[in-house]
Amino acid sequence: MIIAANLKTNLTRKATHKYMQELDSCVQKSSQEVIVFPAISSLDAYKTDITVGAQNAYPVEKGAFTGEIGLEHLTEFGIKTILIGHSERRHILGESQEFIAEKFHYFKEQGFRIIYCVGEPLAVRESSKEEMLAYLYQQYEGIDTQYENLIIAYEPVWAIGTGKIPTLEDIADIHSELKKKSSAPLLYGGSVKVNNVKDILQVENVDGVLVGSAALYADHFCSMIQAA
Ligand code: 13P
Repeated sequence: MIIAANLKTNLTRKATHKYMQELDSCVQKSSQEVIVFPAISSLDAYKTDITVGAQNAYPVEKGAFTGEIGLEHLTEFGIKTILIGHSERRHILGESQEFIAEKFHYFKEQGFRIIYCVGEPLAVRESSKEEMLAYLYQQYEGIDTQYENLIIAYEPVWAIGTGKIPTLEDIADIHSELKKKSSAPLLYGGSVKVNNVKDILQVENVDGVLVGSAALYADHFCSMIQAA
């Protein structure tokens, strides 16, 4: 099982270092693989048993891309894991599928482990199953679904930060459809909490979870790792 935390634009560098310190002892007692995606300023928060990944980077080594970081910055901290296609980057930052695919290929060429996110907004969820799957499958366009270092995260947009989750039957159903597209490990993300993580992890074709708000406190996230 892979238990991943996306800290988004939360926790300062000082707070992240404290967080990783607290998490470290918890992770040492666990057999789960733990990945943390901190804010850019905390990419140096290294711990032996916790993989640190980047929430984002521009698909270049370096150059004139104001406000972005490139491969060189990640390499300095030994980062080899990256999150691509998160719904906040698609919908708030306006990343197109074309650009996301470009990023995917750049970091694939560099041998990165890619956690690739897909998910549908509420209006799409409320349409037919066929339309919903067609929407999700569009997010696989231009992506190498056979890449050996790929992990996919299914994160329904309407479940992120809302406290709402699909039923366990729905998660099983969608995951089985997504597994037809790629046999890569498949995480579920969206309002995963201490009280539902165990049930979600027991669903067929769920190979782990990607946690946002409930992972912001090390003791909380530790309880989730222990429940897994
Ligand atoms: P929440 O756990 O806060 O719903 O966020 C999920 C997420 O976006 C992880 O990438």
